[in-house]
Amino acid sequence: MRNELKIYNTLSRKKEAFSALNPPYVGMYVCGPTVYNHVHLGNVRTFMSFDIIFRYLTFLGYKVRYVRNITDVGHLENDGDTGEDKIAKKAKLDNLEPMEVVQKYTNDFHQVMSMFNAWPPSIEPSATGHIIEQIEAVKFLLEKGFAYEVNGSVYFDVNTYNEKHHYGKLSGRVLEELMAGERELDGQDEKRNKADFALWKKASPEHIMRWNSPWGQGFPGWHLECTVMSTKYLGESFDIHGGGMDLKFPHHECEIAQSVASYAAEPAKFWIHTNMLTVNGQKMSKSLGNSFLPEQLVKGDHPLLDQAYSPMTVRFFMLQSHYASTLDFSNEALKAAQKGFKRIINGLRIIKQIEYPLIDEGSTLNEPVVEQIKQLCQQCHDAMNDDFNTAMTIGHLSNLLKKINAIHTKTLAVEELGLESFNLLKDTYISFLEDVLGLQEENSIDAEQLMQSVLQMYRIAKTERQYDKVDLIRAELKAQGIILKDMKSGVDWAYEE
Ligand code: AMP
Ligand code: ZN
Repeated sequence: MRNELKIYNTLSRKKEAFSALNPPYVGMYVCGPTVYNHVHLGNVRTFMSFDIIFRYLTFLGYKVRYVRNITDVGHLENDGDTGEDKIAKKAKLDNLEPMEVVQKYTNDFHQVMSMFNAWPPSIEPSATGHIIEQIEAVKFLLEKGFAYEVNGSVYFDVNTYNEKHHYGKLSGRVLEELMAGERELDGQDEKRNKADFALWKKASPEHIMRWNSPWGQGFPGWHLECTVMSTKYLGESFDIHGGGMDLKFPHHECEIAQSVASYAAEPAKFWIHTNMLTVNGQKMSKSLGNSFLPEQLVKGDHPLLDQAYSPMTVRFFMLQSHYASTLDFSNEALKAAQKGFKRIINGLRIIKQIEYPLIDEGSTLNEPVVEQIKQLCQQCHDAMNDDFNTAMTIGHLSNLLKKINAIHTKTLAVEELGLESFNLLKDTYISFLEDVLGLQEENSIDAEQLMQSVLQMYRIAKTERQYDKVDLIRAELKAQGIILKDMKSGVDWAYEE
């Protein structure tokens, strides 16, 4: 199965067969969030897409080292080389230490990702934890002649790079057009060319996040952290680099230039870019004011939301589209996803409870059904092997679900499957849902309300003098560590002490 995985490589613009550089190990680097704000649902979609990729590679037997960074310095407003640092700006606004801002939104990010049942990465390095390495990387680029210093800042020399290499190959941009097209920005006169980008920036007196360097006090450029941290933890060349497609340019283009200039090596064999979550066809983004926070979704607390949706419903909704397609948010689609998720998860509960009979009554195999199950299970693998197509996989799982429901309603005898295809059905359904897609049963039952229903049944049984029922309810609850108390005020319950 392993060799059949194909991935759309945004660098070659082709679907290519995946093979690891150093099997069974796979190195994957994904650009993480800039932790100056709550992540919105669009961000979640991107990180969930990489969670699926992480899970599926692991499912295939690879030992994946998944590195996802935390950007906590250097990401300036407008993704450019001027303007305020996003973290520092927020710190000033909220009267906090920059690291308090970083910690707060890192915690928030972790909590959100775990709510959506995403696996944590193997390593989560932060930019401020790698200032020394970034200074070394700048020195190296200066020595190699791909960078120059002006007034305490160091810039990457895109023109020199482009003489030997191709700046723009990932995003399809042409350097001449970039140099002609970019508008003048404050402070850009320092640069030799408009397309050059900062590796190290001099800190102005009011800039609060600053470190000593050979060029004076300053801070690293945004693109450099990912080159430095991916190289440190995955090597100069590794298997997969990913992020949302809005990071292709300039961020990833600059990363490629920094790596190729430093090591004469392509950093990543495969580049994967995820598409955007949109609202009425527009990218969900904080600045457009059309974003919602995961918490608002779960509480139904937003003007665009008709109701609340559970995290697993939202996960299912997102997985119903391929990561490379845009996904438009709508209440209708979420409601349909809610139904679909419940259907598929009921199947999970059912199949977990069905055991193949110990003594086979000798019923004959239903060959067509056995063949269908084999095919459907293979199709689940094929769909994931086809560039992680979760939408198709869910379709095949829904067809497997029909067989599970047929067994449940006894329109299909489990023995007709034979032990082998029964095990195949059970293993495939459970492992694709839980391990690959990361979907799980949600405990949406309110225990207190459930207890009130049981107490009501108990009261009725008592009034009707059905003492066998009364005893049964008492015994069942006692087995759960709960005792019933007949009090003057009525019936109540307590944990058995
Ligand atoms: P940021 O913290 O802004 O760098 O964003 C973190 C990640 O979320 C990046 O990979 C972005 O490409 C991605 N992202 C931002 N907006 C959306 C969106 N509307 N849909 C999907 N991914 C997004
Ligand atoms: Zn990055």
